[in-house]
Amino acid sequence: MVYRRNTAIFLLSVFLFLSFQLFARGRSESVSPHSSGEDSGLDVPGIYGQEEDAPPSGSAGNMENTPPSRGEQVMKALAAAYPEAIGGAEYRDGDWAVRLRGVWYYYAGGRLLTGEFRSRSGEYDPQPFYNYPENLPPWREPSQEDAERFRSMARSRRSTPGKRAQFFFDDLWRSHDRAESYERVKSLRFLGHSVLVHYSILEELSLVEEKILAEAKTSAEVRRWIDSLETLTGWNWRTIADTQSRSFHAYGAAIDLLPRSLGGMETYWLWTAERSPEWWAVPYSRRFHPPEAVIKAFENYGFVWGGKWTFFDTMHFEYRPELLLLGGLSIEAHR
Ligand SMILES: [Zn+2]
Repeated sequence: MVYRRNTAIFLLSVFLFLSFQLFARGRSESVSPHSSGEDSGLDVPGIYGQEEDAPPSGSAGNMENTPPSRGEQVMKALAAAYPEAIGGAEYRDGDWAVRLRGVWYYYAGGRLLTGEFRSRSGEYDPQPFYNYPENLPPWREPSQEDAERFRSMARSRRSTPGKRAQFFFDDLWRSHDRAESYERVKSLRFLGHSVLVHYSILEELSLVEEKILAEAKTSAEVRRWIDSLETLTGWNWRTIADTQSRSFHAYGAAIDLLPRSLGGMETYWLWTAERSPEWWAVPYSRRFHPPEAVIKAFENYGFVWGGKWTFFDTMHFEYRPELLLLGGLSIEAHR
């Protein structure tokens, strides 16, 4: 999805950045170092718990000194992130909404539902629309309280697997079932490996690769990381482990980059959890992290990195420009 996103996104980024200074900053600090992730499917106090779902006061929430509601922030970020598919965001019928290829989707507390499904919002978990942090929050030892929270999250994850409303993203990627999704993927050569990805992010990934190769000219660390790569996985029709929610791999909008050897480091919380019940206490120094320049290259073109999630997945990148915009980051204009 390559667009002329220069001016519009730049202005929106500035707007979001400024309007989030007071609100988002308080939020993200309160959850460090554990933000939320694809694989949580669970409420993480400090992120979801603080989302404001109430409609804005006033007709459109644009009155002076009235902070934008979470619904307004999310829907405006989505409109800016996918301008080819989504018309502008607007407040209608009592909620913020975007028009995706002619169909109105309402915020519905993060569930993104059409008018038909709004009355059934209780049947679905919200999608986690979080403020993606620019930097990995500084490591701190989990407290007793954190540990108890993680234990109870792991328990409820198993007993009540989440089911997110996925209508919006199914429509956005035009991938409603396995066969349709497979129709949309193309094979891409990426750093010497073949990987299946959604056709609409081919250019973004090519630009990420170009940037990584440019970094490799001056960075031995980046060269070593490229040489270490063994398996790249993009499209994979599946749900998130232990949940009923679609993984972004199912759209070909996520990519895993695994090295030949992890050298004893951890990369995916669920693999770690199989050996160590206290997977959350594994410090960054024992997690396999790609070089900073690689992470930034992906982020520059709209991808988030799973290493910043509570339920860490350090091999994983997925195309979520709306989360970068919510975090006040800008996405490189490349046209
Ligand atoms: Zn992945």
